[in-house]
Amino acid sequence: MTHSNRVVLVTGGASGIGAVLVRSYAAAGAAVGIVDRDAQAGNALAEELKGQGRQVYFSGADVADFNACRQACLLIEDALGPVDTLVNNAGISPKHDGQPQPIWRMDPAEWHRVVDVNLHSAFNFCRILAPGMVERRFGRIVSMSSVAGKAYLDIVAAHYSTTKAAIIGLTRHLAGELGPYGITVNALAPGRIDTPMVAGAPPAANEAVIATTPLRRLGKPAEVADACLFLSSEQAGFITGQVIDVAGGWLMT
Ligand code: NAP
Repeated sequence: MTHSNRVVLVTGGASGIGAVLVRSYAAAGAAVGIVDRDAQAGNALAEELKGQGRQVYFSGADVADFNACRQACLLIEDALGPVDTLVNNAGISPKHDGQPQPIWRMDPAEWHRVVDVNLHSAFNFCRILAPGMVERRFGRIVSMSSVAGKAYLDIVAAHYSTTKAAIIGLTRHLAGELGPYGITVNALAPGRIDTPMVAGAPPAANEAVIATTPLRRLGKPAEVADACLFLSSEQAGFITGQVIDVAGGWLMT
């Protein structure tokens, strides 16, 4: 699958699944804009890939802040050209001593922050970039949901599940709205993927997932990236409004 002549924007692209997405799109020939709050890791990744002859641009921003997202998009489009592929990947899943906080102990500020980072960020980038896609009658949007958005999981908290379910609602709605303009909108629902987000979890949490996953292992970020590259490829041009599990058969939601 080639992505040459594409301009891709990956949120949360400095580490974990996002960094692998950036590498994969760049290797497939795309120009890639990275938006992340981690300027050190984001700049290092961009410099490394530029050193390999890839077109990559990093812009530091908090994806929860609409104006910062708009500024990041302006800088990326100035550097690379109009974005035709948006990957809403940035996300957080706060834990306390490795455990999710039950609703009766949850700090309202934590609830609001997770909604801002996991959900409002997707609104921000869709709102900013959809007008250009509509004008050009082409676009690809892929957002990161989770199996936790489709089934109850005791290893995450209510704010996380709620935002990941909302991403599915947003995906289906935008698929309907934007389809007539040649824009596909899909979501991925990863299972447990081996990234910094899960690295801090107690070993028992991963062991329990592995034991109930038919493929008996955690997923690799590259396996999520492969599914994302497919959904945003020419070959997936008739797939929209879908949520694809990348979960080794875990839960089969
Ligand atoms: P990760 O390793 O924690 O990486 C997320 C990246 O997003 C980090 O670089 C992080 O920066 C950045 N980020 C977080 N909040 C931000 C903000 N407000 N503004 C800008 N950048 C921000 O996470 P991951 O495991 O790769 O997860 C990527 C996506 O997949 C998330 O949406 C997650 O919910 C979803 N997902 C992951 C799994 C899994 O098992 N890993 C499963 C299902 C779904 P910092 O390092 O500074 O925080």
